[in-house]
Amino acid sequence: MATAHIIDGKATAEQLRVGIAKAVASLAAEHGFMPGLAVVLVGEDPASQVYVRSKGKQTAEAGMASFEHKLPACTGEAELLALVDKLNRDPAVDGILVQLPLPKHIDCKKVIEAIDPAKDVDGFHPLNAGRLATGERALVPCTPAGCLILAKSAATSLAGMNAVIVGRSNIVGKPMAQLLLGQDCTVTIAHSRTRDLPAVVGGADLVVAAVGRAEMIKGAWIKPGAIVIDVGINRVEVGGGKSRLVGDVEYAAAAERASAITPVPGGVGPMTIACLLRNTLEAACARRGIAMPEV
Ligand code: NDP
Repeated sequence: MATAHIIDGKATAEQLRVGIAKAVASLAAEHGFMPGLAVVLVGEDPASQVYVRSKGKQTAEAGMASFEHKLPACTGEAELLALVDKLNRDPAVDGILVQLPLPKHIDCKKVIEAIDPAKDVDGFHPLNAGRLATGERALVPCTPAGCLILAKSAATSLAGMNAVIVGRSNIVGKPMAQLLLGQDCTVTIAHSRTRDLPAVVGGADLVVAAVGRAEMIKGAWIKPGAIVIDVGINRVEVGGGKSRLVGDVEYAAAAERASAITPVPGGVGPMTIACLLRNTLEAACARRGIAMPEV
């Protein structure tokens, strides 16, 4: 019998998108501009195609301009870099997102570094990563930004909490650590070489799981009363040719010990695109010297 409060990422993301749409409408009325997001997809990866489609749809629903650039898998690195350069110089484009992963023949690092940091709405450019690490204003990666909103919704304050992040990727784990440090948490980053992971997780008041392994973090490891944010999206076979999505945390068992937990699906996932729209709005305001509206 679950006792944890279920953190509703779907509803929180919806609320955020409504706030963004209102801000976009009032900026259009007061300043006469429409934020624009360009999404670049190289190749035919089915998951990426789904993401790009819903990004385009939600961008338009928020009242922003959506520019989609779909390139074949055989696109050369120079051609992609030339497109990024064109988008950097396009005044109608406030945010640029190059959908990852890229085909193997393209150097992903080179492409990320080519994006104008002021338009880097994924927050992956080293300048934004450095700004986040030094506590300056930055475009923050969308998934950890969404995780922070959800974690904050489950507590009056995160200050002083022992936070354990499992996973140290540049996309999730590392920026998450910076964001939680910014909330005055005592932060531990665990990874594949961490010794005695159950004990490390067991000391956490806040657990962020970003591993990519189905239900690897066991419910029994969770400290009673902890907040659990599950970033993992893993598809598992359930027989009969069917599959379902599960997180990195053993949900049912963890929900019996945690005070609050995000479900999969319906937790962190929906927050990512909402935070992307927020970053696009932020980039659009910053580029024009306008204060970012409260959303
Ligand atoms: P990466 O594969 O880049 O990183 C995984 C991390 O987990 C690595 O740091 C790795 O450690 C660590 N790890 C792997 N195995 C273990 C283990 N046995 N014990 C402890 N740590 C381990 O993944 P991402 O950060 O990109 O994504 C993580 C998960 O989040 C995935 O399921 C992904 O699908 C999901 N995701 C969800 C998003 C959303 O919108 N909801 C967005 C982005 C990701 P090491 O560094 O030592 O190899």
